[in-house]
Amino acid sequence: MGAGVSRIVIPARVQTILRRLNAAGFAAYAVGGCVRDSLRGELPADWDICTDAEPEQTADCFSDCRTVLTGARYGTVTVLLDGAPYEITTFRAEHGYSDSRHPDGVTFLRSLRDDLARRDFTVNAMAADADGSVIDCFGGSEDLRQGIIRCVGDPERRFTEDALRMLRALRFASRFGFMVAPETETAIHALCGRLRAVAPERLRKELSGLLCGDAVQGVLERFSDVITVLIPELAPCIGFRQWNYHHKYDVWEHTLRAVGAIAPTEELRLAMLLHDIGKPAAFTMDKQLIGHFYGHAVIGAAMTETILRRLRYDRRTAELVTLLVREHGFYLLEDTQKRMRRLVSQFGAETVRLLLQVRRADGIATGTAEGAEEKTAVAERLLESVSSQCVSLPQMALNGQDLLRLGVPEGPRIGAILRALLDAVLDGRLENERETLRSAAREMIDKSDESI
Ligand code: ATP
Ligand code: MG
Repeated sequence: MGAGVSRIVIPARVQTILRRLNAAGFAAYAVGGCVRDSLRGELPADWDICTDAEPEQTADCFSDCRTVLTGARYGTVTVLLDGAPYEITTFRAEHGYSDSRHPDGVTFLRSLRDDLARRDFTVNAMAADADGSVIDCFGGSEDLRQGIIRCVGDPERRFTEDALRMLRALRFASRFGFMVAPETETAIHALCGRLRAVAPERLRKELSGLLCGDAVQGVLERFSDVITVLIPELAPCIGFRQWNYHHKYDVWEHTLRAVGAIAPTEELRLAMLLHDIGKPAAFTMDKQLIGHFYGHAVIGAAMTETILRRLRYDRRTAELVTLLVREHGFYLLEDTQKRMRRLVSQFGAETVRLLLQVRRADGIATGTAEGAEEKTAVAERLLESVSSQCVSLPQMALNGQDLLRLGVPEGPRIGAILRALLDAVLDGRLENERETLRSAAREMIDKSDESI
């Protein structure tokens, strides 16, 4: 065993679980991410536990608690302690991932060391006992100190066993701002094509985690070969020169900067990764040798939809990201309340807020646009100022009932008049005020204008 010098704080409930297993004669440890995060001084999201007890034995130890055999085949029992779930997994080895989805089988083991040896990276292969003493057999704490993601064992073998680990390496590098160890990196460049065989559901989770990391820009730059295995449609963007004085960078470099410039949420990061994916297909050059990308947002939105469906993103996420890509170039030079009311009426205030963030990141990432921040601040104030104004039919001071009372017969004309009134309100031609709208409606009716 490696030097168990460092100690971490084990929360009371986790101690209870470990000690109860120990009292029944079993070895038990907190393991993986929780040990890593504690050593980094972060609060772990959850505490995974490993033990030499087999699933039924574990369940017996917690017969007074609710237990669920979540993955009995793989050795996992979930115990609910005071309502909080803890996964307890039997020491195990995994055999082959011939479908690149699940291990073909697992063997339960007696030793902690062997269980740690099957884990992906040294920083993820540490355990801690009930007192908090850390067991580190593969140099994880040293790699943690130096900021290195390194495979446990031979990288080529580990990535051949389970190709997803390559993407996980990038996710951890992006999240912690770590480098990937040289041999691990070489193996990733050599073997990343194998990610094609991995189930999209597994890829999606790691991809989103990678995109939401602080160091995403550098990781994507260094590992663009990996990202184009997942999203081959991005490949033409790499090195694609823009021939346009608005843009200092090629499409890919601009894209990476845009990803890094936006808040780390799944939707926003995906939107920036994909926002210019339609550019190579839309490229034209005029006689002055200036490049144009007319229609690239619409082309990009169609590509985005296909890509996100292929990666099995849920519908809500896919629809929102597709909208952000399609509308990312919206025009906001004439910053007027009228224009903002139209945008809010079309997309809703929440989506406009996101679009402003997209616009800001896009502007920053051109490397030439001055004042992206200021323009966004102005637009955000405008958004705020129209937030109490009428932008939809339900907010209008006149409704269908009122029109019936004014003598308009039931039918499609009601809707047509209401929409014409809303249009005038959005334009600022009419106040959203009951009497004003009523007399405007009367005029429309009197004209008995069939075009309404
Ligand atoms: P996070 O905080 O992101 O959840 P984590 O380290 O807990 O980080 P998980 O995906 O929850 O990551 O996995 C838990 C542990 O299981 C890892 O720390 C690692 O030891 C091990 N592990 C997970 N997936 C693999 C894999 N594909 N190959 C080898 N070991 C893995
Ligand atoms: Mg975890």
